Amino acid sequence: MNQQFLTELKAVTAENRIFTDEPMKKHTTFRVGGPADILVQPKGTELAAVIRLCRKYDVPYQVIGNGSNLLVGDRGIRGLVIEMLSKEDEICVEDDCITVGAGMLLSKTANRAAEHGLTGMEFAAGIPGRIGGAVVMNAGAYGGEMKDILTAVTVLDQEGNEKILSAEELELGYRTSCILKKGYIVTGAKIKLKHGEETAIRARMEELKKQRVEKQPLEYPSAGSTFKRPEGYFAGKLIMDAGLRGYLVGEAQVSEKHCGFVINRGNATAADVRTLMQNVADIVEEKFGVRLEPEVKMIGEF
Ligand SMILES: Cc1cc2nc3c(=O)[nH]c(=O)nc-3n(C[C@H](O)[C@H](O)[C@H](O)COP(=O)(O)OP(=O)(O)OC[C@H]3O[C@@H](n4cnc5c(N)ncnc54)[C@H](O)[C@@H]3O)c2cc1C
Repeated sequence: MNQQFLTELKAVTAENRIFTDEPMKKHTTFRVGGPADILVQPKGTELAAVIRLCRKYDVPYQVIGNGSNLLVGDRGIRGLVIEMLSKEDEICVEDDCITVGAGMLLSKTANRAAEHGLTGMEFAAGIPGRIGGAVVMNAGAYGGEMKDILTAVTVLDQEGNEKILSAEELELGYRTSCILKKGYIVTGAKIKLKHGEETAIRARMEELKKQRVEKQPLEYPSAGSTFKRPEGYFAGKLIMDAGLRGYLVGEAQVSEKHCGFVINRGNATAADVRTLMQNVADIVEEKFGVRLEPEVKMIGEF
């Protein structure tokens, strides 16, 4: 890594928020991934300065939220990882609208909505991502998705300039948006909900939490649903019907509780997970003629 780059980085971001050779397994819910050359947690306007610095020194960067939809390679990530974190005060509720920083957890945002008697975000309370990652993925569950509640998003473009995009401009679809394609970084979002009853909102959140605990292997590290839902099918059912329940590669395993999840039984490597995913997709295709596409984003060097 260019020393001059590191020196200038320390001038724009506090040194205690810069980490070198940082194991990415500490920053992903899969608990898998080799070291990032540098991981930085910029605050506020520091982000634009960091982006400009990366451009000046031609250093590649990768943005992450809570790492809950990521498989990072065992050899880690060259260049910079920008981890988006937001402080508690980056949620502002006004009437039925919430303005929130990209680094805020969905669960915290949904809880704040409930506190203010705002309904519409219950679906997101159990999704372990941050707002930025949820916008990128158009995260959704139990009949709701980010598309239903987003009105606008603030982003930084590759030059570090701020833009405001309306929900329509985000091209939100099933687990997709235009953010990655355009190389934007989400810095904040505006969400519109409806007035409701806090007790009913909390009851719905509890009910959905119960369903997750019952059906999902939350006791193991994972990245949630490993594959996207193919049209007309359920990935988990196809995998189960292919006889792959509990299928193991190293310490990566098709969950016995929910075949749509690949879990890390302890010390799985990214190579284990990737091989398992390829084998599963091949076997399912051979049996049913349906190709499973990963929902999990693979980044870094494998
Ligand atoms: C147990 C479990 C259950 C889950 N259940 C669900 C579910 O019900 N529904 C669902 O949709 N998902 C689910 N997921 C997957 C995951 O939580 C979501 O995809 C979530 O939205 C990812 O957010 P994140 O902050 O963790 O993003 P990350 O995983 O860190 O990143 C995801 C992608 O977004 C990009 N990104 C992240 N932040 C930004 C930003 N600020 N600007 C630009 N790009 C950014 C990253 O580069 C990456 O490409 C689950 C995962 C787990 C582990």
